[in-house]
Amino acid sequence: MTAIAIDLEAEKREILRRYTNLLRSLGDKASKPERVLLRKAFDLALDAHKDMRRKSGEPYIYHPIAVAQIVASEIGLGVTGVICALLHDTVEDTEVTLDDIRRMFGETESKIIDGLTKIENVFDQSSSIQAENFRKVLLTLSDDVRVILIKLADRLHNMRTLDSMARDKQLKIASETLFLYAPLAHRLGLYNIKTEMEDLGLKYTQPEVFEEITTKLKNTEEVRKRFISRFIYPIRTRLMQGGLQFDIKGRSKSIYSIYNKIKIKGIPFEEIFDIFAIRIIIDTPEDAEKADCWRVYSIITDIYQPNPDRLRDWISTPRANGYESLHTTVMSPTGKWVEVQIRSRRMDEIAENGYAAHWKYKEKNDYESSIDEWLGRIREIMENSDANALEFINDFKLNLFSEEIFVFTPKGELKTLPAGACALDFAFDIHSEVGMSCIGAKVNNKLVPLSHKLKSGDQIEILSSVKQKPKDEWLKFVVTAKARSGIKYALKEEKRIVAEQGKEILDKQLKHLKINADQNIIYNIVRHYKMQSPLDLYFGIGEGLIKLDNLAKIARGEKSSSWYSLLKSRFSRSSEDGSKKTATSFEHIVKEIRGKSDMLVIGDDMDKIDYKLAPCCNPIPGDEVFGFVTVDEGIKIHKTNCPNAIDLMSNYAYRIVKARWTSQQQLAFMAGIRVNGIDDVGIVNNITRIISNELNVNMRSISFDSMDGVFEGNIMVFVQDTNHLTELMGKIKEVKGVTSVMRVDSN
Ligand code: MN
Repeated sequence: MTAIAIDLEAEKREILRRYTNLLRSLGDKASKPERVLLRKAFDLALDAHKDMRRKSGEPYIYHPIAVAQIVASEIGLGVTGVICALLHDTVEDTEVTLDDIRRMFGETESKIIDGLTKIENVFDQSSSIQAENFRKVLLTLSDDVRVILIKLADRLHNMRTLDSMARDKQLKIASETLFLYAPLAHRLGLYNIKTEMEDLGLKYTQPEVFEEITTKLKNTEEVRKRFISRFIYPIRTRLMQGGLQFDIKGRSKSIYSIYNKIKIKGIPFEEIFDIFAIRIIIDTPEDAEKADCWRVYSIITDIYQPNPDRLRDWISTPRANGYESLHTTVMSPTGKWVEVQIRSRRMDEIAENGYAAHWKYKEKNDYESSIDEWLGRIREIMENSDANALEFINDFKLNLFSEEIFVFTPKGELKTLPAGACALDFAFDIHSEVGMSCIGAKVNNKLVPLSHKLKSGDQIEILSSVKQKPKDEWLKFVVTAKARSGIKYALKEEKRIVAEQGKEILDKQLKHLKINADQNIIYNIVRHYKMQSPLDLYFGIGEGLIKLDNLAKIARGEKSSSWYSLLKSRFSRSSEDGSKKTATSFEHIVKEIRGKSDMLVIGDDMDKIDYKLAPCCNPIPGDEVFGFVTVDEGIKIHKTNCPNAIDLMSNYAYRIVKARWTSQQQLAFMAGIRVNGIDDVGIVNNITRIISNELNVNMRSISFDSMDGVFEGNIMVFVQDTNHLTELMGKIKEVKGVTSVMRVDSN
């Protein structure tokens, strides 16, 4: 179908050349009979894949040969591993069966191929696998740890040849690699493979970022080289004087780890001080290596001042993956911190290539048993239930699967949440009580608001307060069903508590009137006040929205006065009490409502109309407001976005009065401000100084709570209008340590 002419003869030669290279890299690790088996595996794979080509157009067999090559020279597996690598795709993709493999090679080989085939199927079907499950899947599907190692080699080669894949495939494969395979390689001590996987993963998930860092590294290479050679000159001299055999390398951090510092820690490229490390590799016998490493340390710290906080001794206690090295960070003459890694040749090889590197230099007989020892060790690492998932996947930080994110508790427990989940969702996921009392969170040690969207890899600590109560607006940003229903339940619960109080009030009054509170009576009252249900009635009473006048009449269902006369009687009574103003106010209200002008102008009508600013939302000039005719407190002015507004407007529409502020308002109004931030000495002083000195704002109250290094301050101030308030909040926002400033409706 394609018009491209393929030189089949040249291709054959190339295939053979690659196979010969593979054999060569096994060296004397393969005996004569083993070489026969290897050839058999190669021939079988070559034949099985003969009609297949890779996406790039290359013969398919290039892939199994390349995987086998990685297995042999980069991971260090022996003949069995190489045979299985050559055959790894045959059962999955060709006519070859497991029985064929068992017959031709043996039980071990067929089991390994079986494991590889199953893994392939599991991963193809489920697009998102939680890391912990991934570990379990790998363990159950792989009786033989070589399955995992060959799978890693397979993935590495696929990453190296990702260019020819479609963009969506690239993204999926690269993301999976960053998320699962690179951390796995790291865990198994395959440092080089891990680094290459990460760099390639970044290259395909974020090409621009990858390109940018690569360019910057290239552009700064000369400067870095000059710096390094000047830095190591005195070290080299002193080490030589000390009679040590050594190599010194100046190595850049991997592109991916630079990216991590830039993106996750927020440090610009130019300020990453450990963009490279100096590595001193000493040639020394195994029994002298620890002493010699410390000798080198002593020489270096004679020349440069070390940072005592950054000394890492992984020689006395190697890391779980077998990494051994001595790290120190010293101050260079130019005032730059430089990380120096000191290790023996043996340690260096293990650090780069895992344990396999070490065994590679052993004799043939030792070699196979050493591999077994190493494989046993890997199995131990994988099975070790103490090893928490955090360590297992400690390097992944990207949001890889669109449906789910993986985040951690402070103790490293893994939680799965839907993509888009915020800190509050996480709190509810832990426990609904935690969700209800959540006031904020720290994500990767940074203080964030409840609505902060989480990313895979985030570690979240929830900050809570017993004073916290669930809020309506929380429903706007939570995404999980658990949080949603938890908040709704709590809000209803709030209403129920108020309703209970209302019911008590009503019961008491009915009892006082010697009326038996049966269903009919209650429904008479519900109907009278145009309520939806008894619950709404009780809530209205509890909230003080309903005054129970003429209760006896209403309860008996007798025709009673309208709200109008109800109000009038209420206000008249007040005026009998001597409050003339209230009576007048009422007339005005009525005029405002019934008259031509249906707009209450706050400020102008001040002396004529009895109104108050609602304490639930503390409106100030500039806010969009409405008036609400209360039973005995005149008109209350609420903000249209007051938490109670929806309830008032939907249930008491007949009591709503349009209102606006007068333009010549020069009074001070009370407003609440909430300040959150990191606890810092003097921060309260700095904030109050701004409020009182700089803007001449009067402060009515201030309270600060602090816990776990963060604080919350609630301040009530008198301001002229919203502009004034915004200006003030802007100034407070600039105070060092303050992370958020927001207006709150009440304290
Ligand atoms: Mn493959």
